[in-house]
Amino acid sequence: MDLVKSKFEPMIVTITHTSPHAVWTQLLDIYETRALNPYGLSLINQRAHAVQSGHHAQQQGLSDALITAALLHDIGHMVHGLGEHPAAEGIDDQHEVIGAHWLAQYFGPAVCEPVRLHVAAKRYLCAVDPAYRGRLSRDSIESLTLQGGPMNEAERAAFEQTPYWQDAVALRRIDEQAKDPNAPTLAFTAFHDVVLRAVPTPER
Ligand code: FE
Repeated sequence: MDLVKSKFEPMIVTITHTSPHAVWTQLLDIYETRALNPYGLSLINQRAHAVQSGHHAQQQGLSDALITAALLHDIGHMVHGLGEHPAAEGIDDQHEVIGAHWLAQYFGPAVCEPVRLHVAAKRYLCAVDPAYRGRLSRDSIESLTLQGGPMNEAERAAFEQTPYWQDAVALRRIDEQAKDPNAPTLAFTAFHDVVLRAVPTPER
């Protein structure tokens, strides 16, 4: 049980307080230059997937932090250097952990934890919601085995004790919706104000 629980334990991080504008400039650079490759096996690129995710979160009336988490949840794919589709080579890229650590340089747990837990949330949803499992995209099914398959009972119980687990589940459901090649694509810059509000400053 302890071993199971330790997998979901929150990260201990110290935020580097940078100006929100400097954070935004970095994000813009990543999404305008490194997010143009296909998202896994789907017909859209990483930037479209990010923007669709942020848009769904916005439409659901979620918090600035969770909209930001949805927008940036796959940033690990852009910063890990393992190529576009590591699951095809049998590699679990751990992009959720890499992404959460990258984001934790600038954002608090309300952004980073749902990102870190979004793969665990997939394993959780596959165990508790058969309809969700049926909606998974081909590459999500392919990576599921590498990520540990659906959660067992002990893992589910530990996950439900983890801070931000419900936000991670909400983010994960959005992740599956945000792979539509026919959806109108907003500009990444449409999220400027939301992201800036989600950057904690020392005064806040
Ligand atoms: Fe995703």
